[in-house]
Amino acid sequence: MNILITGGAGFIGSNLVRVHLTQNDTVYCIDNLLTGTQKNIDEYRKNKHFRFVDGDICETPLDNLPSFDVIYHLASPASPVQFKKYPLETLRVNSEGTLRLLSFFEKQRRGVFVLASTSEVYGDPLVHPQPETYFGNVNPNGIRSCYDEAKRFAESATLTYFRKYRSDVRIARFFNTYGPRMEKDDGRAVSNFIMQALTNQPLTIYGNGTQTRSFCFVTDLTEALFRLATAKNLKGEVINLGNPNELTIIDLAKMILTLTPSTSVISYHPIGQDDPKRRKPDISKAKQLLQWSPKVSLPDGLRKTIAYFKTAYL
Ligand code: UDP
Repeated sequence: MNILITGGAGFIGSNLVRVHLTQNDTVYCIDNLLTGTQKNIDEYRKNKHFRFVDGDICETPLDNLPSFDVIYHLASPASPVQFKKYPLETLRVNSEGTLRLLSFFEKQRRGVFVLASTSEVYGDPLVHPQPETYFGNVNPNGIRSCYDEAKRFAESATLTYFRKYRSDVRIARFFNTYGPRMEKDDGRAVSNFIMQALTNQPLTIYGNGTQTRSFCFVTDLTEALFRLATAKNLKGEVINLGNPNELTIIDLAKMILTLTPSTSVISYHPIGQDDPKRRKPDISKAKQLLQWSPKVSLPDGLRKTIAYFKTAYL
C-alpha cells in the first residue's frame, strides 16, 4: 500500500511509520519539524520504501505526490506545553491544514482518510468515562482552546467530507499516550516525571495530584490506528483509542519513582487553567469494531519508556 502520514516525525507518527514499513508498505512522511524531530525518523532513512517531505502541510505542494491507500493526518503540536507555545500554528494546521488535505484526498477518489483527534474534544468532561457520543465541556476561548477547538473543527471538516462526498473518512480520538520517542521537553506528566526521577530532581505535580488520566502505551495505540485504517466498512466512524486504566497523577508519579528508582521528592505547583479533572476513555466501540484492546500494562510500558529516556537523553 501507499501510505501518507502527516506529522510522521512526531512521537506517535514515527511509531506508526514503523508499523507500515514492517508491512512492506511505501510510507511518505510530511513534517515541518516544528515539534517532530529528525532523530525520530533516522532509522527509516535507508529504507527504500520511506520518503520524507520536509514541509508544512498548509503550504507544501501536494500535486507531485502519488495517490494513497491511507492518509493519516497527525500533524499538530499535541502536548499542552507545545500547543500553548505554538497556538497559531496549532489552529492553522488543524483547520487550513485539514481542509487542504481533505481536498487532496477527495481529488484522489480512493483510499481512506484517518484524522488524529483527541480526548481534548471532551474538554473538562462532566460525563465519566467518556463515550464517543458525549459532546464535551470545552471552554471555547481558554488557553487550551487553540488545540481543543481546532481539533473539534478538524472533526467537523472531516465528517463534512463524509456527508457531502461519502468519502471514506475515519476519526480516532487519542487519549493520553506515552512511550519511546516522547520528547523530554514537551512538558507532559510522563516525560517530565521520568526525566525528573532519572536526574533526582523534584517531581512537579500541578494542583494536588488527584486529577486522573488513563495512559496508553504507544504500540497499543498504533496497532489500533492500523486496524482503524485498514478494516472495512468504518466510513464516517469516530472511535476513542486509549487505555481505560485510570489513575491519579500522584499515583503515576509514585509509580515512576519506584520504577526508576530515584531519590527525588514530590513538589506541588499551581495547576493550569481548564486542566481536566478526570479522563478515561470508554473503548467499547473500539473493542467491537476493531477487535482491539490495549495489551501493555502501565508498569511494563513505563519500564520501556524509562529505558528509552536513559538511552536517548542521559
Ligand atoms: N502534570 C503534572 N506535572 C507535570 C506535567 C503534567 O502534574 O510536570 C499534570 C497536568 O496538570 C495534567 C496531567 O498531569 O493534569 C496530564 O498532563 P499532560 O500534560 O501529560 O497531558 P494532558 O492530559 O493534560 O493533555
